[in-house]
Amino acid sequence: MRYTEYHNEIAVIKDKALLKEAMKKLAKYEDCEESKINGDIVRNMSDEELAMVIMCPYGSDGITCKDSERGLSCIDCSLEWIKAENVEVEE
Ligand SMILES: [Zn+2]
Repeated sequence: MRYTEYHNEIAVIKDKALLKEAMKKLAKYEDCEESKINGDIVRNMSDEELAMVIMCPYGSDGITCKDSERGLSCIDCSLEWIKAENVEVEE
């Protein structure tokens, strides 16, 4: 159940009689924010952020990657790999 609505883009409580319940729900959201483990941060990353932190999906040393002749870094190949449909990666 939703306790808030927007008035001119400002969030307000719909029914002040439900303030106690609304605060309980807000507290739960705040608990979630505070208890973020590193895995949660990784799972919330954008494709671009993820490409920066994962290792090359082709097992490259970062210098002689399969697309280095195209001038692509392993961040580029990682981003392409992230956006590609799931297929087996060659060893
Ligand atoms: Zn690479």
